[in-house]
Amino acid sequence: QPFVDFRDVWLAYNEELLAANQFAVEAIDLQIRQGEFIAIVGPSGCGKSTFMKLTTGLRKPSIGSIRIDGQPVNGPVKISGMAFQSPSLLPWRTTVDNVLLPLEIVEPYRSNFKRERKAYEERARQLLQKVGLGGYEDKFPWELSGGMQQRASICRALIHEPKMLLLDEPFGALDAFTREELWCILRDLWTEQQFNVILVTHDLRESVFLADTVYVMSKSPGRFVVKREIDLPRP
Ligand code: ADP
Ligand code: ADP
Repeated sequence: QPFVDFRDVWLAYNEELLAANQFAVEAIDLQIRQGEFIAIVGPSGCGKSTFMKLTTGLRKPSIGSIRIDGQPVNGPVKISGMAFQSPSLLPWRTTVDNVLLPLEIVEPYRSNFKRERKAYEERARQLLQKVGLGGYEDKFPWELSGGMQQRASICRALIHEPKMLLLDEPFGALDAFTREELWCILRDLWTEQQFNVILVTHDLRESVFLADTVYVMSKSPGRFVVKREIDLPRP
């Protein structure tokens, strides 16, 4: 049974668009197996963010169905962690407290957070070590570079051991050196913990370097036109 299962999914953003057959994405049929790392590439406006909104349950398909981990998607999916192009850390919180944030907000973690804070904080500090932020755990965001903030935002996405990590252009704003370093860190974390990854990117090289499977989306309306399994030796 696939971990993510899109069956002929179409989405129009509102009733008028639907009546006019104006779909933001159409005919999305996609199965992702447990632990698979997929990348989605395509031009701006082709429907990548729309695909992510469907995957997180923030939007319902106009037509078709989506199941994740065997469950029909019905409202926000809590088994995923997310990171975006901008790290958006809270400026009044230290690095480690930013990483812990999802646990303080999202049920069921919130109910246990006070009691289990020590264990979670230990995990947050270990994650920060792994991404090269050892020594920066108790600094504030303004004391970190852009690349360092992005590392922290990936830790924040992984703190609750999600089954799925959703990444929307997470390395887009970084210089080439930092970007490639973060690629390797992400692959290491993924190899170790085997969560699913859905990565949206404009960077074809990034998609081929990181993903098991690359999907290319065409513009207007968004539709997957190419699927390539990448079978390269990994560093
Ligand atoms: P991408 O992430 O690939 O840049 P999007 O998924 O954001 O593309 O957009 C796909 C299409 O859906 C575009 O034509 C965009 O204008 C349209 N779209 C996105 N969000 C909305 C919205 N909230 N209402 C109406 N149309 C939207
Ligand atoms: P950038 O995001 O600017 O590309 P990186 O995240 O690659 O930078 O950081 C490069 C290195 O520079 C870091 O590993 C760190 O040692 C150092 N560094 C960057 N910004 C700071 C800072 N504000 N305080 C201390 N060291 C920093």
